[in-house]
Amino acid sequence: MRVLTHFIGGEHVEGASGRHADAFQPMTGECVSRVPLASAAEVRAAIANAKAAQPAWAATNPQRRARVFMKFLQLMERDGEALAELLAREHGKTIPDARGDIQRGVEVAEFACGIPHLLKGEYTEGAGPGIDVYSMRQPLGVVAGITPFNFPAMIPMWKFAPAIACGNAFILKPSERDPGVPLRLAELMLEAGLPPGILNVVNGDKEAVDALLDDPDIQAVGFVGSTPIAQYVYARGCAAGKRVQCFGGAKNHLVIMPDADLDQAADALIGAGYGSAGERCMAVSVAVPVGKTTADELMKRLVPRVEALRVGPSTDSGADFGPLVTRAHLDKVRDYVDVGVREGASLVVDGRDFRLQGYENGFYMGGCLFDHVTPQMRIYREEIFGPVLCVARADSYETALRLCNEHEYGNGVSIFTRDGDAARDFAARVQVGMVGVNVPIPVPLAYYTFGGWKRSAFGDLNQHGPDSIRFYTRTKTVTSRWPGGVRDGASFVIPTMA
Ligand code: NAD
Repeated sequence: MRVLTHFIGGEHVEGASGRHADAFQPMTGECVSRVPLASAAEVRAAIANAKAAQPAWAATNPQRRARVFMKFLQLMERDGEALAELLAREHGKTIPDARGDIQRGVEVAEFACGIPHLLKGEYTEGAGPGIDVYSMRQPLGVVAGITPFNFPAMIPMWKFAPAIACGNAFILKPSERDPGVPLRLAELMLEAGLPPGILNVVNGDKEAVDALLDDPDIQAVGFVGSTPIAQYVYARGCAAGKRVQCFGGAKNHLVIMPDADLDQAADALIGAGYGSAGERCMAVSVAVPVGKTTADELMKRLVPRVEALRVGPSTDSGADFGPLVTRAHLDKVRDYVDVGVREGASLVVDGRDFRLQGYENGFYMGGCLFDHVTPQMRIYREEIFGPVLCVARADSYETALRLCNEHEYGNGVSIFTRDGDAARDFAARVQVGMVGVNVPIPVPLAYYTFGGWKRSAFGDLNQHGPDSIRFYTRTKTVTSRWPGGVRDGASFVIPTMA
């Protein structure tokens, strides 16, 4: 069994708290590593180290900071396959899907290479007599990122790449369920030329998170995870006077209009509903066919496809999806399916009892498909985060739109239609942060921003893209006049441009 460490000041540091978590390989169910859980004192030591290193990094010119990311990208190319394998083994997703997890993070590191341009301020010459005004963006200092298990490469990179490019030092607290890849990313950043202490990984649980939230030297916290913890982190971090952005859970709907290409819609639902065993915040978990004929025709296409899904170990590149992340999560997802049956939804495909031959201790289940799901049911209201697709039939476009808008989550949503007018109306009126038109997983590209609405996000700036530069910097505005023989005497009136 591997004994993992923290990564502080450019070095591997053994855990000293005496507490640890077991991390499993989901495809076999084996416990493969011991993850140290940091005490508040260990977190404090990491913050002190980062605080000492940060001023010199902030003073490094932005082009040199960008070059670290350029080198990092080369190293990611060199080590990409090994990382994908490690990720698949720790998380459970298939290797092709793990490559996508890495690539989506790499794209944000590519975005960070543009930091000299992104940090440029504004300038107004002659804003008043002999007066020039300019603004600049300065880093915050030491900032922290707390990340979930489901994208162990992408989400840490979404957080640390813009933060570090802006000149901050970063403390990453990854999920204790699969921290091997985040630790490796920190090693690669060091190899790329990042000074020690600028990217630190502290493993831990609530104790480490609370220590980060309460520490006066942490200026900003970015969190991604489930909604109850997002809300908690947001409240506690804001109470401590920090800048906080927290991204939470989801229940993403895909509306199928009567004029949609139903084969295309079925492909979209199968991939976005069951890929990564449904453990994606942008997974489609609710299909909303509009009209009875659409629903019946869609079900005819979906049922055989769900029955034929290939569940396999993470190392089987031919598998559609792999195991769930832990035994506890598998039990929770199966329990949700039981709840749906008790609530009266029609379980059309039941994957609860699926077992994979040769991998009997792995955390597998097959795809499940519910029809006739109603908004009152828990399986509709709550995030299941497993390979379970709910079909909630709508009698009209307005009903479908209302379902999306009345749901407490508002992360992603899609509409499948051939009608441009309907698509445009939907994009304008839907109360959700990321919208797809004939695209099932509308994750914005790195140079746009990513974030949900309603209880899917707390705080007012999104992740990556231009918002990430705003989040990880403070704006300073300078109004200047050089002595040039102008003398107005003392004025007791607020200066204006009247
Ligand atoms: P989680 O909330 O259990 O954990 C997220 C992080 O919070 C981890 O680092 C964990 O150690 C920490 N944490 C857990 N319990 C805590 C507590 N009581 N106090 C303080 N910190 C705590 O989430 P998860 O199961 O790792 O990830 C899945 C969730 O993340 C899903 O709800 C999914 O929708 C969401 N997610 C959201 C987005 C998004 O951008 N909106 C992206 C990916 C995942």
